[in-house]
Amino acid sequence: MTEWQKFSDNNGGFSSPTSISPHTSNPFSKKNWHTALSEDMPTKRALIIVDVQNDFCAGGSLSVPEADDVVPVFNKLRDISWDAVFLTRDYHPQDHASFASNHGTDVPLFSIRKIKSGVDQVMWPNHCVQGTTGSEFHKDLIVHDTDVIVKKGMNTDIDSYSGFFDNAAQEKTELDTLLRERKITDLYIGGIALDVCVLFTVLDAVKLGYNVFFIEDASRGLGPEQNENARKQMLEQGVTIVNSTDIKE
Ligand SMILES: [Zn+2]
Repeated sequence: MTEWQKFSDNNGGFSSPTSISPHTSNPFSKKNWHTALSEDMPTKRALIIVDVQNDFCAGGSLSVPEADDVVPVFNKLRDISWDAVFLTRDYHPQDHASFASNHGTDVPLFSIRKIKSGVDQVMWPNHCVQGTTGSEFHKDLIVHDTDVIVKKGMNTDIDSYSGFFDNAAQEKTELDTLLRERKITDLYIGGIALDVCVLFTVLDAVKLGYNVFFIEDASRGLGPEQNENARKQMLEQGVTIVNSTDIKE
C-alpha cells in the first residue's frame, strides 16, 4: 500500500479538491490574466505532460498507484506531430512549506495545515526536491530537446498543483505565456496525479480559454473514487475526455 492510499483510507477519501487546496480567490477576476483566444485562430495543438517524475512513480516518496503505466502512453503519443510539447516539473526547495518535515516533528503526513501564505496545505512527505533523482522525469519517458519544461512549486511559501498558477493564484508560471507565444489553441493534458496536479492544470486551462482535452489513459490518480470525482469536475467545465488512441495526426 502506498502512502497516498494510506492517506486516502485514513481520511475517508481524498476526493474533493476543495479539501486539497483550491485557489483561495478567483484569479481571473482579480487580475486580468485571461485573454480570450481569437475564434478564427487556426487550431494548434500542444501536449502537456504533467509531473511524470520519479517521486510520483513506483519507488518514489509520493508514489501514485500504476503511475509508471502512463510512460508508454506518452511515448506512443510522440509519434504524432505536435505544435509544441510541454512538461511540468514539480521542483521544490528543501524547505518547502508543503513538506510535513518542515513544520516540526509531530505533524502527521497528509494532514491539512494553514501555512504562512494563508492557504490550507496538505502536509506531504518530502518529494521532488530540487537536484534530487526524485525530481527527475521517469527514466523511460521520451523528452526531446525541443520540449519545453515548466518548473513549479519553487516558491518556499506556497505550493503549486496547477501548471499555470500557484495554489493561492498569486503567481503565474510561464506556461500560459509560452503557449500564447506559440499561438496554441488546443491543449491535450495528462499525467500524475490525475486528481491533483492534472485536475488543477486542466481546470485552469479551461479558465484561461483553451480548448482542453484530458487524456484519460495517460493519467493516474489516487483511486477510482478520486479519479471519478476529478472526471466529473472536468466534464462540468466542458473538458473533452479522450483516450490517447483517439488522437489523430
Ligand atoms: Zn509537490
